[in-house]
Amino acid sequence: MTRLLSRIGKLLVVACAIFSFLVPVNSARPQRAEQIDWPRYQDMAVDLMQQYLRIDTSNPPGNELKAANFFKHLFDQYGIDNEIFEYKPGRANIIARLKGNGSKRPIILLSHMDVVTAEPASWEVDPFSGVIRNGYIYGRGALDMKNEGLLHLMTMILLKREGPPLARDVIFLGTADEEVNDEGSLWMIANKSDLFKNAEYLLTEGGDNLLENGEVKIVGVDVAEKAPFWLRLTATGLPGHGSRPVADSATNRLIRAMSRILDWETPLKLLPAVEKYFKDVAPLQSEPLRSQFANIRESLKDAAFAKSLTSQREYNFLLRNTISITMLSGSKQTNVIPNAATCNIDVRLLPGESPDEFLKALTAVIADPTIKIENVNRFKPPNSSSVDTELFSLIARRTKEQHPSAVITTKMLSGYTESQLYRQLGIIAYGWAPFYTTPEDDEGVHGNNERISVANIRQGTREFFEIVSDISR
Ligand SMILES: [Zn+2]
Repeated sequence: MTRLLSRIGKLLVVACAIFSFLVPVNSARPQRAEQIDWPRYQDMAVDLMQQYLRIDTSNPPGNELKAANFFKHLFDQYGIDNEIFEYKPGRANIIARLKGNGSKRPIILLSHMDVVTAEPASWEVDPFSGVIRNGYIYGRGALDMKNEGLLHLMTMILLKREGPPLARDVIFLGTADEEVNDEGSLWMIANKSDLFKNAEYLLTEGGDNLLENGEVKIVGVDVAEKAPFWLRLTATGLPGHGSRPVADSATNRLIRAMSRILDWETPLKLLPAVEKYFKDVAPLQSEPLRSQFANIRESLKDAAFAKSLTSQREYNFLLRNTISITMLSGSKQTNVIPNAATCNIDVRLLPGESPDEFLKALTAVIADPTIKIENVNRFKPPNSSSVDTELFSLIARRTKEQHPSAVITTKMLSGYTESQLYRQLGIIAYGWAPFYTTPEDDEGVHGNNERISVANIRQGTREFFEIVSDISR
Protein backbone atom coordinates (compact mmCIF):
# COMPACT_ATOMS: atom_id res chain seq x y z
CA MET A 1 0.00 0.00 0.00
CA THR A 2 2.71 2.46 1.01
CA ARG A 3 4.50 1.54 -2.12
CA LEU A 4 1.39 2.11 -4.21
CA LEU A 5 0.83 5.53 -2.63
CA SER A 6 4.40 6.53 -3.23
CA ARG A 7 4.04 5.42 -6.85
CA ILE A 8 0.92 7.54 -7.28
CA GLY A 9 2.80 10.42 -5.66
CA LYS A 10 5.65 9.95 -8.10
CA LEU A 11 3.29 9.92 -11.08
CA LEU A 12 1.73 13.20 -9.92
CA VAL A 13 5.16 14.77 -9.57
CA VAL A 14 6.02 13.56 -13.07
CA ALA A 15 2.78 14.90 -14.52
CA CYS A 16 3.18 18.30 -12.82
CA ALA A 17 6.77 18.61 -13.90
CA ILE A 18 5.80 17.83 -17.48
CA PHE A 19 3.27 20.64 -17.54
CA SER A 20 5.59 23.12 -15.88
CA PHE A 21 8.11 22.64 -18.67
CA LEU A 22 5.87 23.33 -21.62
CA VAL A 23 7.51 25.68 -24.03
CA PRO A 24 5.33 28.61 -24.99
CA VAL A 25 4.20 29.01 -28.57
CA ASN A 26 6.32 31.25 -30.72
CA SER A 27 4.14 33.20 -33.06
CA ALA A 28 6.84 33.42 -35.74
CA ARG A 29 8.16 29.91 -36.44
CA PRO A 30 11.92 30.14 -36.89
CA GLN A 31 13.14 28.43 -40.05
CA ARG A 32 16.77 28.32 -39.01
CA ALA A 33 18.28 26.38 -36.14
CA GLU A 34 20.17 29.49 -34.95
CA GLN A 35 16.87 31.26 -34.24
CA ILE A 36 15.68 28.58 -31.85
CA ASP A 37 15.85 29.35 -28.15
CA TRP A 38 18.22 26.46 -27.44
CA PRO A 39 18.89 27.03 -23.72
CA ARG A 40 15.17 26.71 -23.05
CA TYR A 41 14.85 23.43 -24.95
CA GLN A 42 18.09 22.13 -23.47
CA ASP A 43 16.84 22.80 -19.92
CA MET A 44 13.67 20.97 -20.85
CA ALA A 45 15.66 18.02 -22.24
CA VAL A 46 17.67 17.63 -19.04
CA ASP A 47 14.54 17.77 -16.91
CA LEU A 48 12.69 15.25 -19.09
CA MET A 49 15.75 12.96 -19.11
CA GLN A 50 15.61 12.86 -15.32
CA GLN A 51 11.89 12.14 -15.38
CA TYR A 52 12.24 9.36 -17.93
CA LEU A 53 15.01 7.70 -15.91
CA ARG A 54 12.73 7.70 -12.85
CA ILE A 55 10.29 5.40 -14.63
CA ASP A 56 11.29 1.86 -13.72
CA THR A 57 11.07 -0.23 -16.88
CA SER A 58 13.43 -2.99 -15.72
CA ASN A 59 12.92 -5.99 -17.93
CA PRO A 60 11.85 -8.44 -16.66
CA PRO A 61 9.06 -7.52 -16.08
CA GLY A 62 9.26 -4.41 -18.30
CA ASN A 63 6.21 -2.28 -17.47
CA GLU A 64 6.86 -0.23 -20.59
CA LEU A 65 3.28 1.04 -20.53
CA LYS A 66 4.40 3.56 -17.89
CA ALA A 67 7.06 4.91 -20.25
CA ALA A 68 4.60 4.92 -23.16
CA ASN A 69 2.22 7.02 -21.07
CA PHE A 70 5.03 9.44 -20.22
CA PHE A 71 5.58 10.00 -23.94
CA LYS A 72 1.86 10.11 -24.68
CA HIS A 73 1.27 12.96 -22.21
CA LEU A 74 3.95 14.99 -23.92
CA PHE A 75 2.87 14.19 -27.48
CA ASP A 76 -0.74 15.07 -26.60
CA GLN A 77 0.42 18.29 -25.00
CA TYR A 78 2.28 19.33 -28.13
CA GLY A 79 -0.43 18.20 -30.53
CA ILE A 80 1.54 15.31 -32.01
CA ASP A 81 -0.52 12.34 -33.26
CA ASN A 82 0.27 9.22 -31.28
CA GLU A 83 -1.05 5.84 -30.32
CA ILE A 84 -0.16 3.29 -27.65
CA PHE A 85 -0.42 -0.43 -28.36
CA GLU A 86 -0.65 -2.45 -25.16
CA TYR A 87 -0.04 -5.90 -26.58
CA LYS A 88 -0.23 -7.57 -23.18
CA PRO A 89 -0.93 -6.17 -19.70
CA GLY A 90 1.66 -3.54 -18.84
CA ARG A 91 3.69 -4.17 -22.01
CA ALA A 92 3.26 -1.53 -24.68
CA ASN A 93 4.71 0.18 -27.74
CA ILE A 94 4.03 3.76 -28.74
CA ILE A 95 4.12 5.35 -32.17
CA ALA A 96 3.88 9.07 -32.90
CA ARG A 97 3.98 10.80 -36.26
CA LEU A 98 4.65 14.18 -37.78
CA LYS A 99 3.25 14.26 -41.30
CA GLY A 100 5.36 15.31 -44.24
CA ASN A 101 4.11 16.22 -47.71
CA GLY A 102 4.93 12.69 -48.91
CA SER A 103 7.57 13.65 -51.46
CA LYS A 104 10.09 11.59 -49.46
CA ARG A 105 9.63 8.30 -47.61
CA PRO A 106 9.42 8.38 -43.78
CA ILE A 107 12.23 8.23 -41.26
CA ILE A 108 11.75 6.22 -38.05
CA LEU A 109 13.33 7.17 -34.72
CA LEU A 110 13.35 3.85 -32.87
CA SER A 111 14.13 3.34 -29.20
CA HIS A 112 13.39 0.55 -26.79
CA MET A 113 11.84 1.75 -23.55
CA ASP A 114 12.83 -1.21 -21.40
CA VAL A 115 16.12 -1.42 -19.52
CA VAL A 116 18.06 -4.28 -18.03
CA THR A 117 17.67 -4.82 -14.30
CA ALA A 118 19.88 -2.97 -11.83
CA GLU A 119 21.35 -4.14 -8.53
CA PRO A 120 20.82 -1.08 -6.27
CA ALA A 121 23.37 -2.27 -3.70
CA SER A 122 26.12 -2.00 -6.32
CA TRP A 123 25.20 1.55 -7.32
CA GLU A 124 26.33 4.82 -5.75
CA VAL A 125 22.82 6.23 -6.24
CA ASP A 126 19.31 4.83 -6.61
CA PRO A 127 19.26 3.47 -10.20
CA PHE A 128 15.82 5.05 -10.73
CA SER A 129 16.53 8.44 -9.15
CA GLY A 130 17.61 10.37 -12.24
CA VAL A 131 19.82 12.33 -9.87
CA ILE A 132 22.44 14.76 -11.20
CA ARG A 133 25.91 14.57 -9.66
CA ASN A 134 29.08 16.23 -10.89
CA GLY A 135 27.58 16.98 -14.26
CA TYR A 136 26.16 13.52 -14.87
CA ILE A 137 22.56 12.30 -14.85
CA TYR A 138 22.43 8.84 -13.26
CA GLY A 139 19.96 6.09 -13.96
CA ARG A 140 19.49 2.67 -15.52
CA GLY A 141 18.99 3.39 -19.21
CA ALA A 142 21.05 6.61 -19.23
CA LEU A 143 23.16 5.10 -22.04
CA ASP A 144 21.01 2.14 -23.14
CA MET A 145 18.88 3.74 -24.41
CA LYS A 146 16.62 6.17 -22.66
CA ASN A 147 19.09 8.89 -23.63
CA GLU A 148 18.37 8.29 -27.31
CA GLY A 149 14.63 7.95 -26.68
CA LEU A 150 14.80 11.36 -25.05
CA LEU A 151 16.55 12.92 -28.07
CA HIS A 152 13.91 11.35 -30.31
CA LEU A 153 11.20 12.92 -28.16
CA MET A 154 12.88 16.32 -28.16
CA THR A 155 13.31 16.15 -31.94
CA MET A 156 9.59 15.47 -32.39
CA ILE A 157 8.71 18.44 -30.17
CA LEU A 158 11.26 20.70 -31.85
CA LEU A 159 10.13 19.70 -35.34
CA LYS A 160 6.53 20.36 -34.39
CA ARG A 161 7.26 23.76 -32.83
CA GLU A 162 10.29 25.04 -34.65
CA GLY A 163 11.00 22.84 -37.64
CA PRO A 164 10.79 23.41 -41.37
CA PRO A 165 7.90 22.06 -43.45
CA LEU A 166 8.53 18.32 -43.71
CA ALA A 167 8.99 16.40 -46.95
CA ARG A 168 8.77 13.07 -45.15
CA ASP A 169 6.89 11.72 -42.15
CA VAL A 170 8.99 11.59 -39.02
CA ILE A 171 7.92 8.62 -36.91
CA PHE A 172 8.74 8.12 -33.25
CA LEU A 173 8.62 4.45 -32.27
CA GLY A 174 9.12 3.37 -28.66
CA THR A 175 9.14 -0.37 -28.12
CA ALA A 176 8.99 -2.88 -25.30
CA ASP A 177 11.15 -5.88 -24.51
CA GLU A 178 14.25 -5.33 -26.61
CA GLU A 179 16.45 -6.48 -23.75
CA VAL A 180 14.80 -9.90 -23.53
CA ASN A 181 12.82 -11.16 -26.52
CA ASP A 182 12.08 -8.25 -28.87
CA GLU A 183 8.39 -8.91 -28.31
CA GLY A 184 7.53 -5.24 -28.79
CA SER A 185 9.14 -4.84 -32.20
CA LEU A 186 8.07 -8.29 -33.34
CA TRP A 187 4.49 -7.44 -32.42
CA MET A 188 4.63 -4.12 -34.27
CA ILE A 189 6.10 -5.74 -37.37
CA ALA A 190 3.55 -8.57 -37.29
CA ASN A 191 0.49 -6.40 -36.56
CA LYS A 192 1.09 -2.75 -37.39
CA SER A 193 3.80 -2.64 -40.01
CA ASP A 194 1.49 -0.67 -42.32
CA LEU A 195 2.25 2.30 -40.09
CA PHE A 196 5.96 2.36 -40.91
CA LYS A 197 7.07 -0.26 -43.41
CA ASN A 198 7.42 2.19 -46.30
CA ALA A 199 10.10 4.09 -44.37
CA GLU A 200 13.37 4.87 -46.08
CA TYR A 201 15.49 5.34 -42.95
CA LEU A 202 15.61 4.30 -39.33
CA LEU A 203 17.87 5.59 -36.56
CA THR A 204 18.38 3.65 -33.35
CA GLU A 205 21.04 2.49 -30.89
CA GLY A 206 24.33 0.86 -31.77
CA GLY A 207 26.59 3.76 -32.66
CA ASP A 208 30.00 3.66 -31.06
CA ASN A 209 31.64 7.03 -30.47
CA LEU A 210 34.90 7.65 -28.69
CA LEU A 211 35.71 10.65 -26.54
CA GLU A 212 39.36 10.94 -25.51
CA ASN A 213 40.86 13.76 -23.45
CA GLY A 214 37.77 15.84 -24.14
CA GLU A 215 38.02 15.42 -27.92
CA VAL A 216 35.68 13.38 -30.12
CA LYS A 217 38.04 10.93 -31.84
CA ILE A 218 35.75 8.42 -33.52
CA VAL A 219 32.12 8.53 -34.55
CA GLY A 220 31.15 5.00 -35.46
CA VAL A 221 27.83 4.59 -37.23
CA ASP A 222 26.53 1.06 -36.77
CA VAL A 223 25.56 -0.26 -40.21
CA ALA A 224 25.78 -4.00 -39.47
CA GLU A 225 25.69 -6.28 -36.49
CA LYS A 226 26.76 -9.83 -35.93
CA ALA A 227 24.10 -12.47 -35.40
CA PRO A 228 23.90 -14.69 -32.33
CA PHE A 229 23.72 -18.37 -33.27
CA TRP A 230 23.62 -20.17 -29.94
CA LEU A 231 24.37 -23.87 -29.87
CA ARG A 232 24.18 -26.65 -27.30
CA LEU A 233 26.49 -29.64 -27.54
CA THR A 234 25.46 -32.83 -25.80
CA ALA A 235 27.77 -35.80 -25.33
CA THR A 236 26.51 -39.11 -24.01
CA GLY A 237 28.35 -42.18 -22.73
CA LEU A 238 28.58 -44.93 -20.22
CA PRO A 239 27.82 -43.74 -16.67
CA GLY A 240 29.64 -45.14 -13.65
CA HIS A 241 31.46 -44.64 -10.39
CA GLY A 242 34.14 -41.97 -10.37
CA SER A 243 36.58 -44.46 -8.86
CA ARG A 244 36.58 -46.52 -12.09
CA PRO A 245 37.21 -44.11 -15.01
CA VAL A 246 35.43 -44.58 -18.34
CA ALA A 247 37.83 -43.50 -21.09
CA ASP A 248 35.17 -42.25 -23.51
CA SER A 249 32.67 -40.99 -20.93
CA ALA A 250 30.28 -38.20 -21.84
CA THR A 251 32.40 -35.61 -20.01
CA ASN A 252 35.65 -36.76 -21.61
CA ARG A 253 34.15 -36.73 -25.09
CA LEU A 254 32.71 -33.29 -24.52
CA ILE A 255 36.00 -31.89 -23.23
CA ARG A 256 37.87 -33.26 -26.25
CA ALA A 257 35.27 -31.67 -28.52
CA MET A 258 35.59 -28.34 -26.71
CA SER A 259 39.34 -28.49 -26.95
CA ARG A 260 39.11 -28.91 -30.73
CA ILE A 261 36.70 -25.98 -30.88
CA LEU A 262 39.11 -23.82 -28.88
CA ASP A 263 41.95 -24.66 -31.25
CA TRP A 264 39.84 -23.89 -34.31
CA GLU A 265 40.70 -20.60 -35.93
CA THR A 266 37.65 -19.66 -37.93
CA PRO A 267 38.56 -18.17 -41.31
CA LEU A 268 39.20 -14.43 -41.55
CA LYS A 269 36.75 -12.50 -43.71
CA LEU A 270 36.97 -8.81 -44.49
CA LEU A 271 33.57 -7.21 -45.07
CA PRO A 272 33.44 -3.88 -46.95
CA ALA A 273 32.15 -2.01 -43.86
CA VAL A 274 34.98 -3.43 -41.76
CA GLU A 275 37.58 -2.63 -44.40
CA LYS A 276 36.27 0.94 -44.42
CA TYR A 277 36.50 1.05 -40.63
CA PHE A 278 40.19 0.06 -40.62
CA LYS A 279 40.98 2.58 -43.35
CA ASP A 280 39.09 5.33 -41.53
CA VAL A 281 40.84 4.83 -38.20
CA ALA A 282 44.28 4.30 -39.76
CA PRO A 283 45.27 7.98 -39.35
CA LEU A 284 44.70 7.67 -35.59
CA GLN A 285 47.39 4.96 -35.32
CA SER A 286 51.13 5.31 -35.28
CA GLU A 287 53.38 3.46 -37.74
CA PRO A 288 53.56 0.67 -38.69
CA LEU A 289 49.91 0.14 -37.73
CA ARG A 290 48.85 3.22 -39.68
CA SER A 291 50.01 1.77 -43.01
CA GLN A 292 48.85 -1.72 -42.11
CA PHE A 293 45.32 -0.50 -41.33
CA ALA A 294 45.25 1.68 -44.43
CA ASN A 295 45.95 -1.44 -46.53
CA ILE A 296 44.16 -3.89 -44.32
CA ARG A 297 43.23 -6.30 -47.12
CA GLU A 298 46.90 -6.74 -48.06
CA SER A 299 48.11 -6.64 -44.46
CA LEU A 300 45.91 -9.54 -43.43
CA LYS A 301 47.74 -11.78 -45.91
CA ASP A 302 50.73 -11.55 -43.56
CA ALA A 303 50.07 -14.36 -41.08
CA ALA A 304 52.05 -12.76 -38.27
CA PHE A 305 50.16 -9.48 -38.59
CA ALA A 306 46.81 -11.27 -38.77
CA LYS A 307 47.70 -13.24 -35.66
CA SER A 308 48.67 -10.18 -33.66
CA LEU A 309 45.65 -8.17 -34.80
CA THR A 310 43.15 -10.91 -33.97
CA SER A 311 44.70 -11.48 -30.57
CA GLN A 312 43.05 -8.16 -29.66
CA ARG A 313 39.44 -8.50 -28.61
CA GLU A 314 38.27 -5.25 -30.17
CA TYR A 315 39.47 -6.30 -33.64
CA ASN A 316 39.07 -10.07 -33.64
CA PHE A 317 35.24 -10.11 -33.75
CA LEU A 318 35.21 -7.75 -36.73
CA LEU A 319 37.06 -10.25 -38.88
CA ARG A 320 35.52 -13.65 -38.25
CA ASN A 321 32.73 -15.74 -36.83
CA THR A 322 33.50 -16.11 -33.13
CA ILE A 323 32.78 -18.75 -30.51
CA SER A 324 32.64 -18.37 -26.74
CA ILE A 325 32.11 -21.45 -24.61
CA THR A 326 29.81 -20.23 -21.88
CA MET A 327 27.66 -22.86 -20.09
CA LEU A 328 28.90 -26.22 -18.90
CA SER A 329 27.18 -29.06 -17.12
CA GLY A 330 28.00 -32.63 -16.25
CA SER A 331 27.52 -34.63 -13.12
CA LYS A 332 26.06 -33.15 -9.97
CA GLN A 333 28.35 -35.25 -7.82
CA THR A 334 32.10 -35.59 -7.79
CA ASN A 335 32.08 -39.39 -7.63
CA VAL A 336 29.46 -39.93 -10.35
CA ILE A 337 30.35 -40.23 -14.03
CA PRO A 338 27.26 -38.82 -15.78
CA ASN A 339 25.66 -40.38 -18.83
CA ALA A 340 25.37 -36.95 -20.44
CA ALA A 341 27.34 -33.72 -20.44
CA THR A 342 26.48 -30.49 -22.20
CA CYS A 343 27.97 -27.15 -23.06
CA ASN A 344 26.44 -24.09 -24.66
CA ILE A 345 28.46 -22.00 -27.02
CA ASP A 346 27.74 -18.43 -28.03
CA VAL A 347 28.49 -18.25 -31.74
CA ARG A 348 28.35 -14.87 -33.48
CA LEU A 349 28.18 -14.91 -37.24
CA LEU A 350 29.26 -12.14 -39.58
CA PRO A 351 26.64 -10.54 -41.83
CA GLY A 352 26.09 -12.71 -44.90
CA GLU A 353 27.04 -15.97 -43.20
CA SER A 354 24.93 -19.10 -43.42
CA PRO A 355 24.24 -20.91 -40.14
CA ASP A 356 24.01 -24.23 -42.01
CA GLU A 357 27.45 -23.76 -43.51
CA PHE A 358 28.85 -22.84 -40.13
CA LEU A 359 27.27 -25.90 -38.54
CA LYS A 360 28.81 -28.12 -41.22
CA ALA A 361 32.26 -26.69 -40.55
CA LEU A 362 31.84 -26.98 -36.79
CA THR A 363 30.70 -30.60 -37.06
CA ALA A 364 33.84 -31.39 -39.02
CA VAL A 365 36.00 -29.69 -36.38
CA ILE A 366 34.34 -31.60 -33.53
CA ALA A 367 34.83 -34.83 -35.49
CA ASP A 368 32.70 -36.88 -33.12
CA PRO A 369 29.39 -37.99 -34.63
CA THR A 370 28.06 -39.06 -31.22
CA ILE A 371 27.94 -35.47 -30.06
CA LYS A 372 24.59 -33.86 -30.70
CA ILE A 373 24.60 -30.20 -31.75
CA GLU A 374 21.41 -28.13 -31.58
CA ASN A 375 20.51 -24.50 -32.11
CA VAL A 376 18.98 -22.99 -28.96
CA ASN A 377 18.03 -19.44 -29.95
CA ARG A 378 15.81 -17.88 -32.55
CA PHE A 379 18.37 -17.25 -35.26
CA LYS A 380 18.12 -13.81 -36.81
CA PRO A 381 19.96 -13.58 -40.10
CA PRO A 382 22.68 -10.93 -39.94
CA ASN A 383 22.24 -8.02 -42.33
CA SER A 384 23.67 -4.60 -43.05
CA SER A 385 22.80 -1.22 -44.55
CA SER A 386 24.62 0.63 -47.31
CA VAL A 387 26.67 3.71 -46.39
CA ASP A 388 26.05 5.15 -49.83
CA THR A 389 23.06 7.21 -48.74
CA GLU A 390 22.03 10.81 -48.23
CA LEU A 391 21.57 10.20 -44.50
CA PHE A 392 25.03 8.71 -43.98
CA SER A 393 26.67 11.58 -45.87
CA LEU A 394 24.68 14.10 -43.86
CA ILE A 395 25.67 12.53 -40.52
CA ALA A 396 29.30 12.45 -41.64
CA ARG A 397 29.31 16.04 -42.87
CA ARG A 398 27.49 17.56 -39.90
CA THR A 399 29.53 15.61 -37.37
CA LYS A 400 32.74 16.75 -38.99
CA GLU A 401 31.58 20.38 -38.81
CA GLN A 402 30.74 20.03 -35.12
CA HIS A 403 33.75 17.91 -34.19
CA PRO A 404 36.63 18.55 -36.60
CA SER A 405 38.87 16.11 -34.70
CA ALA A 406 36.49 13.19 -35.32
CA VAL A 407 36.94 10.35 -37.78
CA ILE A 408 33.53 9.24 -39.04
CA THR A 409 33.37 5.55 -39.80
CA THR A 410 31.28 2.41 -39.87
CA LYS A 411 31.46 0.22 -36.82
CA MET A 412 30.07 -3.26 -36.92
CA LEU A 413 28.66 -4.25 -33.56
CA SER A 414 29.58 -7.49 -31.85
CA GLY A 415 26.14 -7.36 -30.23
CA TYR A 416 22.65 -7.31 -31.66
CA THR A 417 20.20 -4.43 -32.18
CA GLU A 418 16.67 -4.21 -33.51
CA SER A 419 17.99 -2.74 -36.75
CA GLN A 420 18.25 -6.35 -37.86
CA LEU A 421 14.43 -6.71 -37.74
CA TYR A 422 13.66 -3.50 -39.58
CA ARG A 423 16.27 -4.00 -42.31
CA GLN A 424 14.25 -7.05 -43.34
CA LEU A 425 11.49 -4.62 -44.36
CA GLY A 426 13.92 -2.90 -46.74
CA ILE A 427 14.58 0.04 -44.40
CA ILE A 428 18.09 1.52 -44.19
CA ALA A 429 18.86 1.31 -40.48
CA TYR A 430 21.76 2.98 -38.70
CA GLY A 431 22.87 2.94 -35.10
CA TRP A 432 23.82 6.50 -34.41
CA ALA A 433 23.30 9.24 -31.86
CA PRO A 434 25.37 12.32 -31.02
CA PHE A 435 26.54 11.10 -27.61
CA TYR A 436 30.26 11.16 -26.99
CA THR A 437 31.48 8.97 -24.19
CA THR A 438 34.74 7.60 -22.82
CA PRO A 439 35.35 3.85 -22.46
CA GLU A 440 34.92 4.33 -18.68
CA ASP A 441 31.47 5.89 -19.24
CA ASP A 442 30.52 2.94 -21.43
CA GLU A 443 31.09 0.48 -18.59
CA GLY A 444 27.74 1.67 -17.25
CA VAL A 445 25.92 -0.04 -20.13
CA HIS A 446 24.28 -3.06 -18.46
CA GLY A 447 26.72 -2.33 -15.58
CA ASN A 448 26.61 -0.20 -12.45
CA ASN A 449 26.27 3.58 -12.11
CA GLU A 450 25.02 4.07 -15.67
CA ARG A 451 25.13 7.79 -16.41
CA ILE A 452 25.14 10.37 -19.18
CA SER A 453 26.64 13.82 -18.94
CA VAL A 454 24.34 16.81 -18.84
CA ALA A 455 26.51 18.32 -21.58
CA ASN A 456 25.78 15.33 -23.84
CA ILE A 457 22.04 15.73 -23.37
CA ARG A 458 22.19 19.46 -24.00
CA GLN A 459 24.41 19.34 -27.06
CA GLY A 460 22.83 16.12 -28.35
CA THR A 461 19.37 17.70 -28.37
CA ARG A 462 20.55 20.24 -30.90
CA GLU A 463 22.79 17.98 -33.00
CA PHE A 464 20.17 15.26 -33.36
CA PHE A 465 17.39 17.70 -34.21
CA GLU A 466 19.49 19.41 -36.87
CA ILE A 467 20.26 16.19 -38.69
CA VAL A 468 16.71 14.82 -38.61
CA SER A 469 15.38 18.22 -39.58
CA ASP A 470 17.80 18.43 -42.52
CA ILE A 471 17.12 14.95 -43.86
CA SER A 472 13.35 15.54 -43.58
CA ARG A 473 12.96 18.93 -45.22
ZN1 LIG B 1 19.74 -1.17 -25.91
